[in-house]
Amino acid sequence: MAKHLNTMTDAVFVYSPDQLTYKFSDEHPFNQKRLQLTMTLLEAIGALSPEQIVAPRIATDEELALVFDRTYIDIVRRAGHGYATVEEGEPYGIGTEDTPIFPNMHEASASIVGATLTACDYVMQGKSQHAVNLGGGLHHGFKNKASGFCIYNDSSVAIKYMQKKYNARVLYVDTDAHHGDGVQFTFYDDPNACTFSIHETGRYLFPGTGSITERGTGDAYGTSFNIPIDAFTEDDSFLDVYETALREIVHDFKPDVILTQNGADAHHFDPLTHLSCTMRIYQEIPRVAHELAHEYCEGRWIAVGGGGYDIWRVVPRAWSYIWTEMSNFKQPHGPIPKQWLEQWQRESPVTLMPNWDDPDPLFTPIPRKKEITEKNKQTLEKALHTLRHNSL
Ligand SMILES: [Zn+2]
Ligand SMILES: [Zn+2]
Repeated sequence: MAKHLNTMTDAVFVYSPDQLTYKFSDEHPFNQKRLQLTMTLLEAIGALSPEQIVAPRIATDEELALVFDRTYIDIVRRAGHGYATVEEGEPYGIGTEDTPIFPNMHEASASIVGATLTACDYVMQGKSQHAVNLGGGLHHGFKNKASGFCIYNDSSVAIKYMQKKYNARVLYVDTDAHHGDGVQFTFYDDPNACTFSIHETGRYLFPGTGSITERGTGDAYGTSFNIPIDAFTEDDSFLDVYETALREIVHDFKPDVILTQNGADAHHFDPLTHLSCTMRIYQEIPRVAHELAHEYCEGRWIAVGGGGYDIWRVVPRAWSYIWTEMSNFKQPHGPIPKQWLEQWQRESPVTLMPNWDDPDPLFTPIPRKKEITEKNKQTLEKALHTLRHNSL
């Protein structure tokens, strides 16, 4: 791995409390309290200091319009101020059970997009090698439709923005347990953006897309990659598929910058999905992305958050690893700081995990493990077939 230049900051952590206003309701599974839990955990181990935190800007309507229809932006704004009816919002996916209307929803969503754009500017202008916006990663948003808890898709805007402003060739890597449909279909006909999503098969899981046959259209055929893995997939198989695919895709596409979406909902504890991974994948996912960013992109790596619905036991640990990786802080293991456990156990409905690593084993072994591993291997081969064939 290339040595870092001393003149440049390794990484910045983009955050403002505005991001906490992206809140549907107290009962909704999407809960940005995850950000506070993660930041306090990082502070407790001395991995995050105030000078590493950068305040984001808010995305302008011009920037949002790089991806979103003006009528959609208008509806989102009016809905958040009480000036749109449920009937008006419905065709745009606004006011549904998944994505209900909440006060100032436009402003909250635009601040999340702005934070990802701030991260992009830091990295593309060489002010830092890497940048993270854990509030982002809203990968299900479409140009005229909110979906799956996502209103404005910050990654889609970020990719368009980096293409336009920096003429960048962008690789988007999505390890959320759900398919990154919004980003994929925004760039489905664009050969200068490559999307790669590894996710639980859409056979039984939202949003249902993300099959290996979705490869892009026209000139962009072969710049969209999907690896739908089987329910109950465990660490070894997940990591084998992820690392093999990512290395080959990066080598083939040769991006200028890598944008990773880091949903933390592939964990065994996650209540919305059916994968059986542990903290191990969250240690490895950013490690591989980091290494490849230095190998192929002069370090340019931007990370965003995403899903993650066990906000107490999974997300704070999983997301801490993104930051410790990008800021070259020693990967934490052993006990979680007592002060953090004491601070949050009072609010947590479940017993917090006492250690950075999950216990081994975390759950009763699954009898179909061998079969699942074999199936995922075949899926990987099929997904990379065109790429491997073209490279010959
Ligand atoms: Zn997800
Ligand atoms: Zn680095």
